[in-house]
Amino acid sequence: MSATSQPVASSELDLDLLRAQVTGEVIAPGDAAYDEARRVFNGMIDRSPAVVVRCAETADVAAAVTFAGERGLLLAVRCGSHSTPGYSTCDGGIVIDLRPMNSVQVDPEARIARVQGGAVAQSVGRDIALAAVDAPWLYFCLSMWMDPAEDQRNIEWSRWLAAVIAPHGAGTAFANFVADDENGRLRASYGEHKYARLVKLKQRFDPDNLFRLNQNIPVQ
Ligand SMILES: Cc1cc2nc3c(=O)[nH]c(=O)nc-3n(C[C@H](O)[C@H](O)[C@H](O)COP(=O)(O)OP(=O)(O)OC[C@H]3O[C@@H](n4cnc5c(N)ncnc54)[C@H](O)[C@@H]3O)c2cc1C
Repeated sequence: MSATSQPVASSELDLDLLRAQVTGEVIAPGDAAYDEARRVFNGMIDRSPAVVVRCAETADVAAAVTFAGERGLLLAVRCGSHSTPGYSTCDGGIVIDLRPMNSVQVDPEARIARVQGGAVAQSVGRDIALAAVDAPWLYFCLSMWMDPAEDQRNIEWSRWLAAVIAPHGAGTAFANFVADDENGRLRASYGEHKYARLVKLKQRFDPDNLFRLNQNIPVQ
């Protein structure tokens, strides 16, 4: 598996094999559900995966990951699709859509919560508390607009605002809000000890960097 997978056409993939292996839907270009299945929250991200697998159960996830890994496909994992830089989709690769797997089970006595990969904050928030953070304030410069003609104007004022506020911040970042390591801000937020542990975990569980469409921890 290469970390620089090239986009492939869905016709190059044995989708019948994949369909036989998963119980969820396997959606490819030309299918009626394809355009809805590939759409993400950020309208500026317009990508065309070779296949979208709507996983219905854990075995589907395993089958889709194996399918991607064995073929060196670019792999995106999708839940709520709010990733601003578009990490939950890709061109010419596989999207593992976890939205059908959204159950949350909490055992208060054992203090154990089992959250499936497609659960979003609304479903989790009903049942368990959010983790606390040390910083007294958290800010997020987020602008949204509907007209593509307004792209430049909105991007410019949003970046201006972020630059004006940045000197007043702690120089750290909340992973949900950043596109990538952004000049080491994410690393600083984890701290060297936790970051070193994350690097070790990445090395152990994903040495080929199959899961890289995210705020990635580099393989060393
Ligand atoms: C309008 C808007 C408002 C927001 N408000 C808030 C807010 O109030 N608080 C806050 O914390 N954040 C907020 N965010 C940021 C948002 O929480 C992050 O972008 C978050 O990562 C989105 O998760 P998602 O599942 O919707 O997105 P997705 O795009 O589906 O996924 C985001 C990333 O996580 C990966 N991923 C998703 N599910 C899994 C999984 N089960 N296993 C492994 N990897 C997975 C994806 O591959 C991708 O890299 C906001 C974003 C937007 C656009």
